[in-house]
Amino acid sequence: MRTAEITAPGRVEILDGPLPQGPLGGSDLRVRMLAVGICGTDQRLATGLRTPPELPWRLGHEGIGEVAEVGSGTHGFAVGDRVALEPNITCGRCEYCRLGMTSACTSRLSAGVLTQPGFLAEVIDHPIDFCHRLPPEMALERAVCAEPLAVAASAIRRTGLDGTETVLVLGAGAQGLLSIFTLVAQGYRPWVSEPNDKRRALAVELGARVFTPGQCPAPDVVIDAAGVPEALGAVVDHLAPFAAITLVGEDHHHLGASSFNIAQKQLRIKGSFIYEHPRDMAEAVDLLVEMPTEKIMGPALALDDVPAVFAGKMPQEGENPQPGVTPRPEVKQWVDMRLRTDNAHAMH
Ligand SMILES: [Zn+2]
Ligand SMILES: [Zn+2]
Repeated sequence: MRTAEITAPGRVEILDGPLPQGPLGGSDLRVRMLAVGICGTDQRLATGLRTPPELPWRLGHEGIGEVAEVGSGTHGFAVGDRVALEPNITCGRCEYCRLGMTSACTSRLSAGVLTQPGFLAEVIDHPIDFCHRLPPEMALERAVCAEPLAVAASAIRRTGLDGTETVLVLGAGAQGLLSIFTLVAQGYRPWVSEPNDKRRALAVELGARVFTPGQCPAPDVVIDAAGVPEALGAVVDHLAPFAAITLVGEDHHHLGASSFNIAQKQLRIKGSFIYEHPRDMAEAVDLLVEMPTEKIMGPALALDDVPAVFAGKMPQEGENPQPGVTPRPEVKQWVDMRLRTDNAHAMH
């Protein structure tokens, strides 16, 4: 089967290898992959900004698929069911897992990022407890948002909102936009700060208002999904006293607030990392039923396009590859595993 693998720092290739071998594990599902999202974590691994655990390393941690075979000891799933895969496989036994804080699991496995081969493969085996049933009619480009939405929605859940706050979202990349979707679903009309015109326009289309420091109400809550210190630095003087700041995402940026800012404004800063198993992925799938996240998705790519995406040769975020088609301001790339390019036909 064909897979997308990092074969050297800065190089991604499509490899042809064996299908999952041997009998299916008793508590696993064998899943034919349907769609896989690509995010900044994949970019950092592929470009060498972050070191993969080994080479070659198979990418992909935002995946959905169709059940092809069920393990002998499994219940509740049938061949043909569509599932969203939770890539963070937590142990359920350590002190954090027992407290429901699985994001701090001391022996967490992580497909595509840390410990297990990723989802950019035609078929994978995955533990059934980390497979979440999708409504069969949900479009792939929406369903493939389940995992990144779980990250954004968990950040907002952990912020502990009461329904009345003035909320500012920093950054309108995928995490910022999914945060806006989540806030709007909760009845908020969040403010957004984003330098890119197209992304800012998309945030407004989704229900956000453009934040102008000093001319808008002072935010009580900041969801920082910008990934750059300048974003918080530009607004910190305009926050309300005691403002709560939640950092979402895995960028290694320094915080754009000085200890003076933090002390004088009495800011409360909280980090939010992935999500808790199983509630947050399950809730993300439920949210997607009413959440048109396809509005932020780029055109479907084929598996064969993946090397070019990471080599910077494919349309970048916000561009559209088909001539004559009006560009959409989409920000998230994804692979439709059912697509075959001419290139793929030529190789087989
Ligand atoms: Zn991701
Ligand atoms: Zn654990």
